[in-house]
Amino acid sequence: MMKEHIDEIPEIIQRDGVVSFKIFMFYGSHGLHGRSADQNSFLMIPEGERYDLAHFEFVMRGIQAAREKFPELADDISLGLHCETAEIMTAYTKMVEESGEYSGLEAYHHSRPPHSEGLAVSIASYLAHETGLPNINLLHLSGKKAMEAAVRMKVAFPHVNFRREVTIGHLLADIHTASGIGGKVNPPLRPREDVEALWEYLIAGEIDWVVSDHACCKDEQKFGEPRDDVFVAKSGFGGAEYLLAGMVTEGRKRGVSYQRISELTASNPASRFGLHSKGEIAPGKDADIALLEEGEPWIVRAEDSLSTQGHTPFEGFELTARVTDTFVRGNHVFTDGNVHGDPKGEYLFRPTHTK
Ligand SMILES: [Zn+2]
Repeated sequence: MMKEHIDEIPEIIQRDGVVSFKIFMFYGSHGLHGRSADQNSFLMIPEGERYDLAHFEFVMRGIQAAREKFPELADDISLGLHCETAEIMTAYTKMVEESGEYSGLEAYHHSRPPHSEGLAVSIASYLAHETGLPNINLLHLSGKKAMEAAVRMKVAFPHVNFRREVTIGHLLADIHTASGIGGKVNPPLRPREDVEALWEYLIAGEIDWVVSDHACCKDEQKFGEPRDDVFVAKSGFGGAEYLLAGMVTEGRKRGVSYQRISELTASNPASRFGLHSKGEIAPGKDADIALLEEGEPWIVRAEDSLSTQGHTPFEGFELTARVTDTFVRGNHVFTDGNVHGDPKGEYLFRPTHTK
């Protein structure tokens, strides 16, 4: 967020094993949850500094300098960008709030319109070209315009090694099927045409991975006052438990192979993010395995979930696949609908290497 953070990039890589970075393009002049705020106090950055396109450029230069400093790590060091344009969102949020024409997730979609993403994707890509930083991850692209822009940028800048990401939320739910404003997320859920466009791009091989975008937010933190005002609610929701079940349910209907689903949810992201001990079932790799049962339809209910979130935008969705067992590095941690034993998570100093 600040100039001094850019100087810390090499230390974060070397001391902490953090090789992936993220820029939130929309923070410039726009608050996290949808209303404008005084930038310096909201972002807690010093007087005289700006969180803007120039700052993003300098972040990119800082990351590229680190790639050159550590050539043996260069392939594993990447930058992700949250691509939304603050100025477009600020203007459209004002128009949508003043007109009162839309409500709920439909209002939120119009307040952060798809071309705000397309423009940010284009700016990010040009800056990558200008700064010579090749490893660019275009994160959580929400629909047709964002994907169109991302594919155009691949053609315009073939020397940039892009990755394109979508979330399970944007692949499962649209502004009308999501259960209420609990489906508020950035970038927003979109109309059905966008959901289907994402699937078309996925099937065409233009999407590199699908993520949970897990941002669990309990009911009392999620909703504001008044409860049905989308602009005062917080953004984000949990998705981890629906990632594989949702991908297999909707992906198999559209002819996506199991192998492709495993690439999209495991091996592709593992390889990009320096998790070389993960992502496939092979000798020497961590035995992180999920067993999935297919064919028995079930209905998503927040009250049946182990999450403390208490609500889900997928409430009432019918899925036809379900994770029955999970192994973490060979430890059987989930079975019969429950988590067992002590937590087995470990800090992963990246890049991790196969033993
Ligand atoms: Zn983001």
